[in-house]
Amino acid sequence: MRRIPGSFGFVKRPCLPAFWHEGEGALPEASEPTLVMSELQTQPVVKEIPPKAADLSAWYTAVCLKAELTSYSPVRGCVVLRPYGYGLWENLQKHLDARFKATGHENAYFPLLIPESLLLKEAQHVEGFAPEVAWVTHGGQEALSERLAIRPTSEVIIGVMYAQWVESYRDLPILINQWANVLRWEKATRPFLRTMEFLWQEGHTAHASAQEAREETLRMLDVYRDFAENVAAVPVYAGLKSESERFPGALDTFSIEALMPDGKALQSATSHDLGQNFAKAYDIKFLDADQQIKHAHTTSWGMSWRMLGAMIMVHGDDRGLRIPPKMAPIEAVFVPILKSNDDRALAACRETAKLLTDAGFRVRVDERDQQPGWKYAEWDLRGVPVRIEIGPRDVNTGNVVLVRRDRRKGDDDHKTVVPLAELPARLRAMLDAIQRSLFDDAKAFLAAHTFDVTDREEFYEKCRARAGMIDVAWCGRAACEAHVKAETSATTRNTRALRGGETTCVACGEPATKRAYFAQSY
Ligand SMILES: [Zn+2]
Repeated sequence: MRRIPGSFGFVKRPCLPAFWHEGEGALPEASEPTLVMSELQTQPVVKEIPPKAADLSAWYTAVCLKAELTSYSPVRGCVVLRPYGYGLWENLQKHLDARFKATGHENAYFPLLIPESLLLKEAQHVEGFAPEVAWVTHGGQEALSERLAIRPTSEVIIGVMYAQWVESYRDLPILINQWANVLRWEKATRPFLRTMEFLWQEGHTAHASAQEAREETLRMLDVYRDFAENVAAVPVYAGLKSESERFPGALDTFSIEALMPDGKALQSATSHDLGQNFAKAYDIKFLDADQQIKHAHTTSWGMSWRMLGAMIMVHGDDRGLRIPPKMAPIEAVFVPILKSNDDRALAACRETAKLLTDAGFRVRVDERDQQPGWKYAEWDLRGVPVRIEIGPRDVNTGNVVLVRRDRRKGDDDHKTVVPLAELPARLRAMLDAIQRSLFDDAKAFLAAHTFDVTDREEFYEKCRARAGMIDVAWCGRAACEAHVKAETSATTRNTRALRGGETTCVACGEPATKRAYFAQSY
């Protein structure tokens, strides 16, 4: 059992696809040849990205590095989030944090280090957790009398504090979120998807009743769904995890699951109803209005930078990233077309950029001494949603040219000439259209790769072929799920109620109790 970034949940170590191992022998990959500008001029950067459909894994790594989202570091298992990648994280934070605040949560911060004796408390709930914990054993030269764990997650330290803070029902609910890094020992390195240290948020709440805790769990699941679909433009299936995929100690674990272009699912966030199990372990008790001492009902929920990995894989194309405008660190980039002895285009770019910045847009002017064609390829690679071209002729006519990153040369709406006076409104409309279009395309892909299967042979065949999300009536039995996994590598991603009319489990023929999406997964 192991935890994976992007979830509090534990899942059995999945069969790793070949590409997870690619980087291992090659580490440290800090020696990855760095592209310098002179090389880029003679060799357009886009040509260095392998075709996405041919090798998703190679494409993904190349895009993360060459779009300057991440760099490998001298620390095995750890990546550097470069400014452009951190810009993505900041936008994720901004949108999620606004949703947390709107649902009544506050941010706080808890210690990085956890005394071993406290962590062992959690180990009662968490089988097989120890192999992933890194330990601090010395302070300077002095050996510590008690080892300190670097947090792999914060239930322990937060649970201990809640026990101190809660006395009466009047102290509840506690609705706290923490933005933090966590560390889980990890040998493979895959930017955003698999790293030893990663960024995430973890919400931890305590409530007076079971009903409130359940409502909170589902509320935050829907916050994640809303963020994934309406900000990251990644359509997901939200549902209940099966028993074998559930966080140990939780009553129920819910997840959102996205589908990647290679037909594998990516768990993108989880939300747990912990019942009273954790409150009992940490002694979170309160005096209720009826003068009875009771244990609180708690929840926890998390999304990590793994979500960025999903977004990159879902939307990118052979030219590089395609970032949904709401997530884009730069929404539009100005590329001036300069003619000798005429720098009016540059001045026009600067002025117009200022106007847009004042209107709340995130824009940049590319003033580097490079050919426009080189700049187009580079900003395409980096996924900036709109390019704004201004040349001497545009200055004369009072127009600018808008180019959509999500379209290709030859598409009707690839390039649009817009009068300068209409630019803010037209740019806003274009960004909205791109946001919608990326989501619609991803949604169409998900629909086209979701299979409502009733035939047993077809079910096993599609699971093996990694066809996508296989939607079936299921018995809900762990033995059935284990059998499917052994035969095909596919597992349940999440489940929901029967539609009505289904009688038997497609996988085994026992009575059906729910519907489940089966898929191979990251
Ligand atoms: Zn079954």
